[in-house]
Formats: sequence, C-alpha cells, structure tokens
Amino acid sequence: MAYQISLTHPRLGETTCEFDGQPTLLGRTGSGAAIEVADPRVSSRHGEIWADSQGIWYKDLGSSNGSWLNGSRLQEPIKLGPEIQLTLGETRLSVARQLPDGLRLSLLGRSGSLGLTMALGDQSKYLQAIYALTEALFAEEFLPELLKRVQEAVPLAHQPSVIAWPPKADGALAYLGGRQGSASSTLAHYAAEQGKAMLFAGEELDDGLGNAPSIRLTGIKGAIYVPLEHDEEIFGMLCAGSMLPFSELDFQFFCAAAGLLAARLSSERLRQQAAQREALANFLQIASHDLKNPLQAIDNCVRILERLPKEKQAPVLEMLVGASGRAKELIINYLDIATIEGGKPLEISPKQLDLAALVEEEIRFLRAAQHEDMEKITVVNEASGTILADERKIRQVLANLFSNAVKYSPQGGEIRVYRREARICIRDHGVGISAENQQRLFSAFERVGDRSIARGTGLGLWLAAALIHAHGGQIGVSSELGKGSTFWFSLP
Ligand code: ADP
Repeated sequence: MAYQISLTHPRLGETTCEFDGQPTLLGRTGSGAAIEVADPRVSSRHGEIWADSQGIWYKDLGSSNGSWLNGSRLQEPIKLGPEIQLTLGETRLSVARQLPDGLRLSLLGRSGSLGLTMALGDQSKYLQAIYALTEALFAEEFLPELLKRVQEAVPLAHQPSVIAWPPKADGALAYLGGRQGSASSTLAHYAAEQGKAMLFAGEELDDGLGNAPSIRLTGIKGAIYVPLEHDEEIFGMLCAGSMLPFSELDFQFFCAAAGLLAARLSSERLRQQAAQREALANFLQIASHDLKNPLQAIDNCVRILERLPKEKQAPVLEMLVGASGRAKELIINYLDIATIEGGKPLEISPKQLDLAALVEEEIRFLRAAQHEDMEKITVVNEASGTILADERKIRQVLANLFSNAVKYSPQGGEIRVYRREARICIRDHGVGISAENQQRLFSAFERVGDRSIARGTGLGLWLAAALIHAHGGQIGVSSELGKGSTFWFSLP
C-alpha cells in the first residue's frame, strides 16, 4: 500500500512524494531524534521509529533505564497512535504524513538528514544538495564551490552566477561568481523591481522580457533570478538560465541556495567591515606614533634653545628644522591618503630630477630614521640619469619601497637600486612574497606573510601605487618566498 509524505519548508515550500510501503527507518530516538507521545511504553531515548504499509512503528532498542514497562522489557514493536510528534536531528524541516486510516504523523521542527532523506525517497536529491551547499559555505573559496554544487544539483542550469546589486555606474553587472556575461541585465532588473525570486518560463521570456538581445541569442527557455538580501536590502542575485524550462522544485532549490548564500555573504561583509575597523585603528596608532617622534624632537629642541647662548644655537636650529620638516612630510602623506580615500585625483607637478641624487638622499634619510635596522644593510646605488616626476611624491614612493626592503630583510644583506630599461628597480634579499600574495600587496590595509616580522599599516605600497598611477606610471613586484623581492616602477 502506498501513501504520501508531504514536506513543508519555509523556502522549499510544500512538496509531496509517494511512499511505497517498504519498511523505512524514520529515525532513532536519542540520537538527535526525540519522540513525544503519551504512550508510557515509548522511551524517548532508546527507540527506533519506522514506517511500513501498516503504519508507523516504534521498537525498543533496550537500555538500562527507561525501556521497561512494569518490570518487563518490551520485545514487540508498538504501532503508534494517531497523535504523535517526532523531532529528528537538526534541520528546520517539517514533514506531515497522511496515512490511509486517518493516522497522522508529523515530524515537526528540527529534522535530521538521515530521517528526512529516507522519508523523502527520490526527492531527497534536493535535500542532499542542500546539505552539500551548506558544506560548501565553509570552504574558503565558497562562491565557486557553491556554484559548482548548484550546477550538480540542477544540471540543466546553464552557467549559474552570482552578481552584485545594484549594477556598476555604467550599468554593467559586476560578477561576484560565475562566468562574466552569463547573467541577463534585463531579467536581473526585473527581479530587483519585483523584490522577489523570479522563475521565468519560456512564454514569459518571449513575452516582452525576451526582447533582451542576450536571451534571444542564447535561446534561453527558462531562467531563475533570486535576490540576495540583508536587512531587507538587495545586495546581490543568484542567477541561472537554461535551454529547457526549470521545474518548480528547481526554483525552490535555488531559493534555498540563495538564502544560504545571502547569510554567508552578509556575514563575510560584516567580517570585512570589522577587519577594516581594526586596520584603521592600527593605522591611527602608527600614524600618531610616527608623528610623536618629530614632535618630541621639536619640543626638546625648543627647551634646549631657551637655555643656549645665541652663538651655540645653530646646530639645534638645524635639528629643529629637520624635525619639523619630517612632521610636515608625514602630515602631507596623510593628506594624500585622505585625498585618495575621498576619491579625488592627486595633483602632480613634475620636474626633471637627478635619480642617483634622489636615491642617495632617501637612503641617508632612512639611515637617520631607522638607525638600527640599517646597520646590517648595504645599499648599492646603481641608479643613474634623470626622471620627470613630482619630487615630493616620488620621494615618498622611494621612501616606502626602501623602508620595506629594510623592514622585510631581517637578517640584513644588500639592497640594490638600478635601472632596467624603463623600470627603476629596488632589489632585496629579504623574506620574499609568495605568488598568491603578490596580487594583494598594493591594496589598502593588506599585510601578508608573517606579520610579526615588522610593524606596518599595510598602506605603504597602496600609497606608492596611487602616487605612481597619478603620474601615469606602473608599479609591480617579482619575488620568491625566502629569496627576496624586486619592487619596480616606471614613469611615462
Ligand atoms: P606595511 O606597512 O605592512 O609594510 P606595505 O603596504 O608597505 O605595508 O606592504 C604590504 C605588505 O607587503 C607588507 O605587510 C609585507 O607583507 C609585504 N612586503 C612589502 N614589501 C616587502 C618586501 N620588500 N619584502 C617582503 N615583503 C614585503
């Protein structure tokens, strides 16, 4: 005898499947499953529940303390009465089951994969897929992993992708995952306007919406666009098209996947915001620390000057000018950072500069400022010729690249500055940078590798890159972990 099991889920909606009456284990009490039933013979901790064509059964599995009734152990299975509730495992799925004789079994609230998969028979494929998706969310590169599993669960989905919402200023879609150009801007706008998940079928696509050239060209007959939301705001969309219409179940599955993805992406955003706040606090701390030195020097000089006769004041005055110059330079750099952060372009006043002299001066400055670190280091200056650049800004670039070369060469060694065709190169024999980390270095607040090697803000290379780009030039690095790095820049 066959009967139906229906499954209700907030996102999957209501689905039903045939149950062929083969004895099927629904769950075991005590292992993530509990049973609430007024029958005193039923142990809430040591039993097994299964269904067959006759109904729903409970069998005691034996225990020392609860599966006994009136002193004798239950040997026979018990047929359960019409009013029972089961809780299986951890998932928030509920199963309502209609039996022919009016007996009703509800698996309410939380239900485990084993019990549900068994109860659902064939449609367990979606359930399995949801578990697979949940697993994918723990991967570091979770987006490609999730899209792969979505594709496995719904093979007719053609290149599922995740886009950011709203689109970029020029109207183009920004892809967070999946292949560029695989989503339709028209359908995404439509779903965003409706503010809900959309299942587009062939007729709808031909009916107006299908006028989007991308849809006509690829001959798509079905599409699913599900907004990703956080705090009722759409920040992205899970999209897929297909050459065949999607089923309602495919759609429900996409909705479930989008719900999981939205939760994961918004927690990622919160994590990034927290990391930025931490980086900002770190930056403020280092910036104030940097400024404290020259200000302290100025303070000391003024005190000494007060007590010195006029003829002995000259060297102290020179120190005073040096310290206030350093403080001013630091402040101008912070202003540059603020300008870039505010999205404004940096102004460049270029002039011809003697490269060798510039390098020489920066190294002298570094020797004075980073006294101890520099002692272990030899600098070979092979730079020659002139460059056309903004003096203060190019000094800043050199200062940042040199101080990194010193900072990240903990054992000392040699720093070589030379020109290779259009490139000005600074080579060190320090800790080096792995290939994957080389991509990230020039972004704001990015610190890579072993952070304990040196103090830093992660802003030095970002600022250097911004200053070089403001000149219309290029900046880059080649490096090998453990062997050293060569940072270079070129100017037009
Ligand atoms: P920081 O203030 O941390 O030095 P930067 O933006 O100057 O910030 O550099 C970013 C990261 O790049 C550093 O944290 C470091 O991991 C790496 N890096 C920069 N220069 C070098 C170098 N010469 N050798 C090895 N690693 C470097």
